[in-house]
Amino acid sequence: MSRYWSPLVHTLDPYVPGEQPKDQRYIKLNTNESPYPPSPQALAAIPAAGGELLRLYPDPNGDVLKDAVAGFFGVGRANVFVGNGSDEVLAHVFQAFFRQGRPVLFPDISYSFYPVYAGLYQVDARLIPLREDFRLALEDYPPDNGGIIFPNPNAPTGMALTRDEIEALLQRNRDSVVVVDEAYVDFGAETVVPLTAHYPNLLVVQTLSKSRALAGLRVGFAVGDPALIEGLERVKNSFNSYPLGRLALAAAAAAVADRAHLEQLCSRVVQTRTVAQQGLEQLGFQVLPSRANFVFARPPGGDAGAFYQALRNHGILVRHFNKPRIREYLRITIGTDADIAALLAACRAILARKAA
Ligand code: PMP
Repeated sequence: MSRYWSPLVHTLDPYVPGEQPKDQRYIKLNTNESPYPPSPQALAAIPAAGGELLRLYPDPNGDVLKDAVAGFFGVGRANVFVGNGSDEVLAHVFQAFFRQGRPVLFPDISYSFYPVYAGLYQVDARLIPLREDFRLALEDYPPDNGGIIFPNPNAPTGMALTRDEIEALLQRNRDSVVVVDEAYVDFGAETVVPLTAHYPNLLVVQTLSKSRALAGLRVGFAVGDPALIEGLERVKNSFNSYPLGRLALAAAAAAVADRAHLEQLCSRVVQTRTVAQQGLEQLGFQVLPSRANFVFARPPGGDAGAFYQALRNHGILVRHFNKPRIREYLRITIGTDADIAALLAACRAILARKAA
């Protein structure tokens, strides 16, 4: 608390990211990072873009990256916005589209940055409860809204909607912007990017932090109608002309161009996810059906807080949200096969000790 803070700063309840520990080596299954390295072409692009050139500002428009994303999806450069992580893109979304005098709608159990941005930009928000079984029921979203945002697959549940379910929402919700946060879509859900050609109020946000293994680079993007992109550009150019540096632009463009690397990485994660799901179920966990690079699982007995701590003592970090409806669950990132084998062994040991 400080008397120098603005009234708004006093009201903020900032997002708390998963920890990045410095004290010891953990098996890190807590922030949905990739266990595998980024595209070698992305890594090779960094020294080439750096060196003496770093005395110059980067391209404020990020055209090299916009063109790579446009090429990947078969859309035009004017359909693409790029930002410093998809978090920054999402922040601009709240300011550009959701301050409408009517509430923005998002799920009660979802990415916990949405309420934080609503607070920062003073956007009225209404949380729509997931159904009892954690299903995101878009039929529960009423039409008189100031915007709709949800992740697909949802976080932290990992459960996905089909493209048809999202299109049905777009059919009846034409007067406000619908944002689909596809941070985890590459791990087994259907992207709705092709629908952006037909629905001028649909914006799709993706990140390079997960399926392209570049969480440390901080790059995200959005695809949508040029008028939506222009709205985001207006906010961005009123905030920071150069959110992406030269190294980030070059490496991200190379990463997006390397489609084979993306596909290989995702198929490995999906295979290990099946092993993790089956192994946890054999130990008595209840595991939600995941299409993401993590699983959301309830340990036997439901004391997830104690289980989190016990795993930590075994050198394994997972994520526990001490919040209504989900405090009996753990979110576990899919690591390598060896990481998941270690996780399952630790769970077995913890449960055996509890039974003794
Ligand atoms: N959306 C969702 C649903 C996420 O889980 C995350 C990762 N925390 C993000 C967006 C942001 O990712 P980034 O800023 O690394 O692109």
